[in-house]
Amino acid sequence: MSDVRERIETLRRLLEKYNLEYYRDNKPSVPDAEYDRLMNELKALEESHPEFDDPNSVTHRVGGAVAEGFVKIVHERNMLSLGNVYNYDEIVRFDRRIVNEVGPVEYVVEMKIDGLAMRMLFQNGNFIQAVTRGDGVVGEDVSMNVRTIRSIPMHVDFDGELDIRGEVYMPRDSFRRLNAARNAAGEEPFANPRNAAAGSIRQLDSSVAASRGLDAYWYHLPNATDYVQTHEESLQLLEKLGFRVNPDRRLCHNADEIWRFIQEVAAARDSLPFDIDGMVIKVNDLAKQQLLGYTAKYPKWATAYKFPAEEVVTEVKDIFCTVGRTGRVTPNARFRPVEIAQTNVEYATLHNCDYIINKDIRVGDSVVVHKAGDIIPEVVRVIPERRPEDSVPYMFPEVCPICGMPLHRFEGEADYYCLNSECPARVVESIAHYASRDAMNIEGLGEKKVEMLHQAGLLNRIEDIYNLKYYPEEVMALDKMGRKSFDNLVEAIEKSKDNGLDKVLFGLGIKHIGAKAARVLAENYPDIDQLMQADQDRIRSIPDFGDVMADSVVQFFADEQNVEFINALKKAGVSLLYKARANYASIFTGKTVVLTGTLSTMTRSQAEETLTQLQAKVTGSVSRATDIVIYGESAGSKYDKALKLGVQLMDEDSFNAELQRLGFLNKS
Ligand code: NAD
Repeated sequence: MSDVRERIETLRRLLEKYNLEYYRDNKPSVPDAEYDRLMNELKALEESHPEFDDPNSVTHRVGGAVAEGFVKIVHERNMLSLGNVYNYDEIVRFDRRIVNEVGPVEYVVEMKIDGLAMRMLFQNGNFIQAVTRGDGVVGEDVSMNVRTIRSIPMHVDFDGELDIRGEVYMPRDSFRRLNAARNAAGEEPFANPRNAAAGSIRQLDSSVAASRGLDAYWYHLPNATDYVQTHEESLQLLEKLGFRVNPDRRLCHNADEIWRFIQEVAAARDSLPFDIDGMVIKVNDLAKQQLLGYTAKYPKWATAYKFPAEEVVTEVKDIFCTVGRTGRVTPNARFRPVEIAQTNVEYATLHNCDYIINKDIRVGDSVVVHKAGDIIPEVVRVIPERRPEDSVPYMFPEVCPICGMPLHRFEGEADYYCLNSECPARVVESIAHYASRDAMNIEGLGEKKVEMLHQAGLLNRIEDIYNLKYYPEEVMALDKMGRKSFDNLVEAIEKSKDNGLDKVLFGLGIKHIGAKAARVLAENYPDIDQLMQADQDRIRSIPDFGDVMADSVVQFFADEQNVEFINALKKAGVSLLYKARANYASIFTGKTVVLTGTLSTMTRSQAEETLTQLQAKVTGSVSRATDIVIYGESAGSKYDKALKLGVQLMDEDSFNAELQRLGFLNKS
């Protein structure tokens, strides 16, 4: 057998297996993006090698299976799937093809709800039957279960036969509740709301389906031409009859308008009450739809834009450990680089030894990696059937990968630690942390620079930062360091000395003391001398401070070396007093504020911190309880909602001007 033929056969077998797992068992073993990738590879091979085509190939059939236990119903008209587009250019091409065939058109762009397609029949206004798409030709009668969905009317004002189509889905809230209950009962959770919805609708006991909190949107009237002329009118008709129709849709006239709407929806996607996996673009004019027609699998007058995948498959090329400033050893995976949710991903943290053991992650494994929006990538699971035969379990190192000292695991902790305080990794990390944005914010002293200065013997401890100014020749001898960079660095170091006690305390890297705790400590002890003499009970009595945090602070200052270190900072002229920035009364005091869009002068977390210091409550979504919405570039749905609700809007310039007026522009 030729290589191509063999690959085609392999892909067909694999995709058939994935179809069964997905449609019959509601338990996919690979992400949709992996399925789509293999499907596209098969389509391309079949197209370039028509001699191997086969009418039974998965590429020609609507995926799906008909479950045992339900009455099978042959659809009067096949229930089709949709073609896919993945980016702007493909939307342009789709539009061009349509325009070439039938002239300029109007489109209705709708959300692609991630559920399962359903058909309902009404006779003289009475609900008769609900049928799944099945394999497109034959579906299952699931009327008993669909009847339990409360938003579906059982009687409508309509004479004769009414055949409608839509999507049954599981809202995110129901999905979370269901999986929490399954976890508590020791049952396997569903992979996603789509699989949960499909599993629920195929319950033989309708009381189970009834308990699952399903809902439905209706989006298609197959014989709409009998009543109306456009798709939009058919949606309005469905709505008028009492069916739930998604109001978030738009009439668009070209690829640019379609793309703009897609971007708007994509920005609001996480805050929707249900999952969507894309947008559906449909020609509005029903006569033009008929002219365009169908393939065996798709209507030619519609297509589905798929959002960039948030889960993909890649291989683990390496597992390596890094050592942080506390000595904690973190294992990381290096992957074959892949694009997930529009970013390139090559690394992910594997957290700790137990995480690797529990998931049994090995070098050479194919793994499912997840990343959504700004969330950091993580390994969801290994695909065991793709594991190489010579694979061996990962062995966690016994010695520090940087300094070679034996690693230590404290009782009850998941992490291993390098206890050598001179370990180069720990030294570099703790200095870099001290200089970092949220601590002393010394521009020009990032981790790479600290590492170089450490290697050159110029930075061995934090206080050495303040002596760098005495070594211009040595510092400038470093790579990419000219006079100007040196002067800038020295200036940034000098300026940072006045940042105040809260920033220094955070920079010290006291275990369990994050940026917020450091600020609270400084508010309670505005002078470091007071803090160094404070007793444990008083620190414990600070609201939100527990024993662990209080112990950690006391222990830190009980260490002679740390006292010397504080003295060195004092000698270098670092201010160890707290500037009580929180006492400014402002227009934000006591207000509920929402941030949206991208701010150009500060990060989202800096803006949040500043607002919190000004005693505002920063929340994530706009409601009637919101007082002010501060917006930056590309503000989306939150901006629109604020407009709708009449909430005060403030642009970034006005926000900055207000901070400046308060003498509060947080430069950190
Ligand atoms: P599809 O999900 O790509 O698109 C068609 C479906 O979209 C319709 O049948 C309908 O149910 C739905 N839809 C939602 N909102 C709609 C709207 N407003 N208008 C019209 N339709 C709307 O096609 P499909 O055939 O159901 O599924 C194929 C996809 O399923 C694949 O692309 C793949 O991503 C996934 N899949 C994954 C696996 C796996 O193993 N992970 C296996 C099989 C299929």
